[in-house]
Amino acid sequence: MSASATAIFSPACGLWACGRAAHFHQRIVVYPIGRGTQRGRLLTNWVCQKSAAGPAPEREDWNRQTSNQQVLAQFGNWCFPWLDMPALIEQTPQIYEFPLVDRDPVATWTSGRVTLIGDAAHPMHPIGSQAGSQAILDARTLTSVLHGTTDPIAALLRYDCERRPRMNDITLRNRRFGPEAALQLVEERAPNGFARIEDVVLRHELDAISSSFSEAAGLDVETVNARPPFVTVAR
Ligand SMILES: Cc1cc2nc3c(=O)[nH]c(=O)nc-3n(C[C@H](O)[C@H](O)[C@H](O)COP(=O)(O)OP(=O)(O)OC[C@H]3O[C@@H](n4cnc5c(N)ncnc54)[C@H](O)[C@@H]3O)c2cc1C
Repeated sequence: MSASATAIFSPACGLWACGRAAHFHQRIVVYPIGRGTQRGRLLTNWVCQKSAAGPAPEREDWNRQTSNQQVLAQFGNWCFPWLDMPALIEQTPQIYEFPLVDRDPVATWTSGRVTLIGDAAHPMHPIGSQAGSQAILDARTLTSVLHGTTDPIAALLRYDCERRPRMNDITLRNRRFGPEAALQLVEERAPNGFARIEDVVLRHELDAISSSFSEAAGLDVETVNARPPFVTVAR
């Protein structure tokens, strides 16, 4: 289950960074999205996520409000030198909870002249901050295959062949925490905390996890820079 909300917040020590702290069963994601109402305060979005026992709720509802106390009961001790999460939760006017659910990959997205893109094609866990970007890459590929063709049915099948295997792979990787597996690795090696991250995990281990995911997702710098334009814009 996840709880998420937006609050005006004073960063604990005047220094702000986007925050992500976690392991496989519990995590937070916190990031500023704008100026606050007063100097020194920031409009802050946050998500707290926790594995829950039992079946997922029947209704995948994003609009179910939860209480600050319920979230504090799970995350009340998540206090860091750089972020006072309990204070952030307490100052949040409205918090919503929702189940984190995905769907098993499917064998085709295309049926005749109809196809799927985005979350309709590959609903996945929100790992790696990239599912929305993948919807844009779907649209890019779709534009490419349809551009200048007289056979849209063949074009939609080409789009399906190009995008679906990659997105099926990413959907399954996200069940294993995708690029955020680095957080789980640190949790396993240093369950009681650490003074220096270098003592727990080596730089090349982090790089290997990150680049394996971004290459699979087609989002690594080399792949993105090497892509030729699909459509030439007339000037
Ligand atoms: C907690 C969380 C955090 C995320 N963080 C990131 C991130 O940092 N970066 C990132 O890239 N992605 C992120 N994502 C994923 C991203 O939000 C989705 O992948 C993206 O919104 C999918 O876009 P879409 O257009 O396919 O679907 P949607 O955004 O769901 O759009 C579908 C639209 O269709 C409408 N609709 C539904 N049924 C009908 C109907 N019958 N008639 C008319 N309209 C209809 C819906 O109201 C909706 O507006 C996150 C997702 C979650 C849940």
